[in-house]
Amino acid sequence: MQDYGGIVDAEKLEQIRVEAEELKGKRLVHINSTWVGGGVAEMLQPLVLLFNDLGIKTEWRVLHGTIDFFNVTKSFHNALHGADLRLSERKKRIYLEHNANFAAISHLDYFDFVVVHDPQPLPLIKFHQKVAPWIWRCHIDLTNPHPELWSWLLEEFIKKHDRVVLSSEEFKRPELDLPVDIIRPCIDPLSTKNKYISEHVAKKQLSRVGIDLEKPLLLQVSRFDPWKDPLGVIRVFEKVKQHEDCQLVLCGSFASDDPEGFKMYNLVKKYEREDIKIILNASDLLVNALQRSATVVIQKSLREGFGLTVTEALWKGTPVVASKVGGIPLQVINGKPGFLLDPKDEEGFAKRILELIRNPALREELGRAGREWVRQNFLITNNLHSWLQVLKKTLSYSI
Ligand code: UDP
Repeated sequence: MQDYGGIVDAEKLEQIRVEAEELKGKRLVHINSTWVGGGVAEMLQPLVLLFNDLGIKTEWRVLHGTIDFFNVTKSFHNALHGADLRLSERKKRIYLEHNANFAAISHLDYFDFVVVHDPQPLPLIKFHQKVAPWIWRCHIDLTNPHPELWSWLLEEFIKKHDRVVLSSEEFKRPELDLPVDIIRPCIDPLSTKNKYISEHVAKKQLSRVGIDLEKPLLLQVSRFDPWKDPLGVIRVFEKVKQHEDCQLVLCGSFASDDPEGFKMYNLVKKYEREDIKIILNASDLLVNALQRSATVVIQKSLREGFGLTVTEALWKGTPVVASKVGGIPLQVINGKPGFLLDPKDEEGFAKRILELIRNPALREELGRAGREWVRQNFLITNNLHSWLQVLKKTLSYSI
């Protein structure tokens, strides 16, 4: 915790320590479905360490799955974002079977709190004898879920939990008849991805992957996923390119619980050329260098639970032009410290990007504002503080 002293106000750190006192010695487990790739794993890494540092004995379990299982859960993820789905008995069986097997090897009865992230491990609650509060932490934008799937998940599993944590008030649903808390996702300012690196180090990283250090750089960092609309980003780039000489980097990765990644990567890869670079599985240091050195970071998601990449860019003083969807408007209020547009408004995206390329003073101003905005609101210590409050609320729980 003390490592955050140079960045986070001392008063805030003290508040966190005081808040944690009552929870010292308690046992907490987080369960999700991947240890790398995507925002959930990104947040759990520092969060689990910090909980332990505060004396809360915290474990992190990763649900095991096969390709079949992750195909099913990705289709559920897409459907919760509003995509179509045939909710067949086969899909339900695969979903339940894997959770039943994982339940058999994940002994959870000695924890004081169980936190289940996203829909993949949601059925676990059906296969455990519940002896402590269970919290469902949903990172997905629930504004338009597939009705049949949502109602099945709600009745069969979600309602068996004691509380739900969402990323935004906007994602609350009237039929979700449980106590709901809002915790905004956050970044770790000390991780390799987000820590300060010098311009020299950043440039060296960029040169290694063949980026032209003289030309404006447009960047989107995202899993290769249709919801992140990489092809839309390329279309926007083509529009910008008609007016200003620049280059685009699409930096992406796969998550082990997202089998669609390869398909999207292969599709995007076809567009690669001298001024469009597709970078797969960049190191955290390279992601840091790219986000720090970009002229503009784009996040053209069609749906987005939160979009940690937006905060990551703002923290590095880089302006963002992003879609006004899901959790992104929590991070960017149009014009402050970036620009928000309808994801279909590709002309609008191009116009804002051109404005930023041509106006270094505006970039500077937004960059400064963005960094302070993140420091106040979106660092992992904020997230930790909110979690402590939620756990304390559930302490008095009796079975
Ligand atoms: N990420 C990465 N390398 C990549 C693509 C993404 O390290 O090539 C990281 C990114 O920096 C961020 C996380 O993966 O920390 C993505 O989180 P976000 O909330 O933006 O999206 P999600 O993948 O959870 O939908």
